[in-house]
Amino acid sequence: MRIGIGHDLHRLEEGRPLWLGGTLISSDVGPIAHSDGDVLLHALIDALLGAMGDGDIGEHFPDTDPANAGRSSLSMLAWAQDRLGARGMQVVHVDGTIFLDRVRLSGRKQEMADRIRGVLGLEPGRVNVKAKTMEGCDAVGRGEAVAAEVIVLVDERAGER
Ligand code: MG
Repeated sequence: MRIGIGHDLHRLEEGRPLWLGGTLISSDVGPIAHSDGDVLLHALIDALLGAMGDGDIGEHFPDTDPANAGRSSLSMLAWAQDRLGARGMQVVHVDGTIFLDRVRLSGRKQEMADRIRGVLGLEPGRVNVKAKTMEGCDAVGRGEAVAAEVIVLVDERAGER
């Protein structure tokens, strides 16, 4: 087994779309980002790259490359899943937390988990999405940013079974 961890944060601005876990959340603010700014998927992709020993998302999708402008993070997640499969690896479990004070996410977490499960080809219960507020502390707590952290467990010999 291998473990990967990922973390991401984007500043928030009025009038931008808020994508989280591949779902569009109703909000008056969204992340300032070169891609769609989906912090949960960016943290997940970094966790997968970590488990593979394959660098980080910024190396593979540099924000200086115009091809990455507005890029869907779900397509980047599918790319990471293909890269994992090519190594004979398979995700076993995903656990993630979103940190956001400006918008309540309680009704949308399962939808995000199901969206991620769909891309990774996992059974129900193998992707968990949590949401936390920062209680008014730090940039997230002041409503200036959204952040996420994700841990993944990967079976590195799935291709041999
Ligand atoms: Mg990001």
